[in-house]
Amino acid sequence: MANRTPVVAGNWKMNTDVESGLELAKGILKLSNSVSGVDKIVCPPFVSIATIAQVLCGSTIQVGAQNVSSNADGAFTGEVSTSMLRGFVSHVIVGHSERRALNGETSEQIASKAIAVAEAGLTPILCIGEDLSVRKFGNAESFVAEQLESSLAEFSAWDSLIVAYEPVWAIGTGEAATSDQAQDMTAVCRKVIRKLAPDAANSTRVLYGGSVNSGNVAELLDKPDIDGALVGGASLKADEFSKLIAAAGSN
Ligand code: PEP
Repeated sequence: MANRTPVVAGNWKMNTDVESGLELAKGILKLSNSVSGVDKIVCPPFVSIATIAQVLCGSTIQVGAQNVSSNADGAFTGEVSTSMLRGFVSHVIVGHSERRALNGETSEQIASKAIAVAEAGLTPILCIGEDLSVRKFGNAESFVAEQLESSLAEFSAWDSLIVAYEPVWAIGTGEAATSDQAQDMTAVCRKVIRKLAPDAANSTRVLYGGSVNSGNVAELLDKPDIDGALVGGASLKADEFSKLIAAAGSN
């Protein structure tokens, strides 16, 4: 049985301004700083990262970004590079379904981002997941396997990767996947990792994301291939997010 430290990561999306983000971070710090046995990450909007990183510096709560450019620098208006983030964040979410759907990001672009993040010494949290039509047609497993494989094209930093299986139909809907569905799909993700990098399969953390809350987190975390949660809505309230951290932690 692999011994993987669970991860609870909060994706704040385009919510909170600097002031309210700071309050949220302070609330999580107060409630969760002493919880051990779990990696705790908050991913605020870019403009709040520096301020929040300063407040969380020296704590057990890590900071992540929600996106990054795969380019190092130059004429890319509105983009943020890994070197700008380094020093403030330890993790970067890449390939979130909202970026794939709303910004047209392809798995090829996401693969480049994952490589850029790892090359900067940061950990990519790589998101993959099927939408409802794919699931209804019974193609969820092959779709996710293909999406994960193509989003990891030429990736080699296997000791620095977190994968998040996030079915699009469960994100922000209040309708989480059942723990059995989530287990089946995180197992598919692990199988893909085993194919690409056999030595990394047992150690890579694979998270579930999609309407995780304090009512369903325990059952999800109980599954053998689910190593934690990527959390949207429930990460915006310090007490609710801290309940998820407590459920994943060891004290
Ligand atoms: C997400 O956006 O990654 C997410 C999982 O959102 P929610 O928890 O709100 O479904």
